[in-house]
Amino acid sequence: MSAEALPTALDIRKVAQRGSDIRAVLKPSDLPRFRALLVGDQGTISTRFRFSRDEENRHLASVEIDAEVEVECQRCLEPMPTHLACRSELAVVWTDEQAAALPKHLEPLIVEDQFCDLMTVVEEELILALPPFSYHDTEHCRKLTRVFSDPVVEDEVEEKRNPFDVLAQLKPGEKH
Ligand SMILES: [Zn+2]
Repeated sequence: MSAEALPTALDIRKVAQRGSDIRAVLKPSDLPRFRALLVGDQGTISTRFRFSRDEENRHLASVEIDAEVEVECQRCLEPMPTHLACRSELAVVWTDEQAAALPKHLEPLIVEDQFCDLMTVVEEELILALPPFSYHDTEHCRKLTRVFSDPVVEDEVEEKRNPFDVLAQLKPGEKH
């Protein structure tokens, strides 16, 4: 079963102990900072958190996020659908020292007390996953298809004529 929101004050010790599996399907508008980077409210964000404890008694969260959203093509400025997939193994830590001591395969999830805001976790993962620039495939980009289909013959003739004008100006005997 998927809920429509994630807990914003999750007791991290409790869910790690229980081995909880929490899923939710969100909308872009549920995540305002991420939504600000998109072109529209369309799309769905499927999330899954699996909590556990490891042999060193760390509290772990295995995160899976799949988002189908719309970003702006930087070439034609039209919306384009994009898929973002995040897979992270987070370890709950309370201090920077604990974060620095984590093995490489674990990323720190810094919490101030024992409560964690999963909506913020999802929002930050998605913001990191978003490429800085997005472009349509060449056959789907409005800008490129427009270039090929528009009547631009006159401009081309103009451009082709220019080199001859230059040659004409350089005829022997003429001074510049
Ligand atoms: Zn485009």
